[in-house]
Amino acid sequence: MKLLFVASECVPFAKAGGLGDVVGALPKALKAMGHDVRVFMPRYGVLRVRSPERMPGPMGVPFGEGTAWCGVLEDRLPDSEVPVYFLEHNELFDDDSIYGHDDGSLHNAARFALLSRATFELCRYLDFEPDVIHAHDWPSSWVPVMMNYGPEAPAFRRTASVLTIHNMAHQPRFPVETLDLLHLPRPEVLRPECCGDYGGLNPFKGGLYNATMITTVSPTYAREIRSPEYGGGLDGVMRFRAADVVGILNGIDDEVWNPETDSYLPANFRVDDLSGKAACKAALQAELGLDVAPDRPLLGLVSRLSPQKGVDVVLRTMDGLLGLNAQVVMLGSGDPALEAMMRERSQLRDGRFAAWVGYNEALAHRIEAASDFFLMPSRFEPCGLNQLYSQRYGTLPIVRATGGLEDTIEQYDPNTGRGTGFKLWDLHEGSLYETVRWALSVYRDRPEHYRRMQKAAMEKKMGWEVIARQYEELYLWALERRRA
Ligand code: ADP
Repeated sequence: MKLLFVASECVPFAKAGGLGDVVGALPKALKAMGHDVRVFMPRYGVLRVRSPERMPGPMGVPFGEGTAWCGVLEDRLPDSEVPVYFLEHNELFDDDSIYGHDDGSLHNAARFALLSRATFELCRYLDFEPDVIHAHDWPSSWVPVMMNYGPEAPAFRRTASVLTIHNMAHQPRFPVETLDLLHLPRPEVLRPECCGDYGGLNPFKGGLYNATMITTVSPTYAREIRSPEYGGGLDGVMRFRAADVVGILNGIDDEVWNPETDSYLPANFRVDDLSGKAACKAALQAELGLDVAPDRPLLGLVSRLSPQKGVDVVLRTMDGLLGLNAQVVMLGSGDPALEAMMRERSQLRDGRFAAWVGYNEALAHRIEAASDFFLMPSRFEPCGLNQLYSQRYGTLPIVRATGGLEDTIEQYDPNTGRGTGFKLWDLHEGSLYETVRWALSVYRDRPEHYRRMQKAAMEKKMGWEVIARQYEELYLWALERRRA
């Protein structure tokens, strides 16, 4: 198949979260299966471009009343033959962030509207007729809308669209004039059953109504977003389209997250020889000023600091957790109030708690490797990657049973010692404290169960090869529908 990914993030060029990881990894796995896969994204000012080649001539994209003249640059995904095309338009994208200033202005709307409009122009420019265009979250949600209502609709009627929901929580609201930039007909697209949103526009909603098929990144999240608690106002759309939604879990990049080869670690390790993991723990304790105590359970946390992640509850439970004779290490950035709480607590320097505020890839790897448990009590979690990494590194996750956390972690069974982690349901200090206490009791009093869980977690298959096969099947299904 000919497949075109249109996205706002792609590792290693630009990443804000899990979306970027997926767009950087899935195309490689699909390519290895023999598909012709390409990726299209903006050239941001903050882009980490490696060695792009400028393609000849500017590309003219019909936009609003005129033509937006854009450059196209080409690079490859690392260690692959997957081409990545960057849309260059300095006025819109030469910015210091991926998502710009999230102010709902027409300028902000124009960024990703241009990316979507340019997608069709790019196909012409490359003489590439995709079977499927795969869009991701709201930034490329205009693509499925345009494929049904835009001037390009007739030319792309044999191309199916797939829209993946990575996170339903991000939904901008844009001015109605955005439709004029895209040459979309107002009456149809302004209906509430398309993009209309109380006098403004919600492209995500339109994408969800119009995509041939929808995927989201875990089966449980696919169900959860049909409810008002998780649907962020779009639960009605999700119920309407329930038959066309498939949950496919994310995988992890084995080359980046592999305890046997990870070069960020002071020592490597594998499932049948964990001595390197003990060395990682001692090194991290020393590095962060914690007591160097091999037997003291170490709880790690790496996260965006947002209400989504339940970090506030962890911080409020901190005295209790440390009272269990555990150590806690946290790495994160985001919400200023949570950053301040982390800083304040870490100033005690009592050898039990360490906090690092900021984004630090190397430290994230070292925390995953050194910890005995990983804390991830998310309020909602479409898929989540950190709990996958931690399992790979023999660090048992303690999570709230939601979304991908529910689907990727097997609850500990005290009768058999089976399982790969510990789950709680109600998110409050009491339940978090009790679940951690339970996990620590297994660590201290039933080491044979703890080892068994570690082994099960580390031996899990989480690579992209298996997952790409599920997407392949989905693309075929989408194609059949669109062409019928
Ligand atoms: P989300 O996409 O919701 O942020 P995920 O668990 O799916 O959550 O992915 C988070 C990714 O970002 C992981 O790769 C994680 O290691 C990384 N990450 C988050 N915060 C930090 C940080 N402060 N420093 C380094 N890496 C981080």
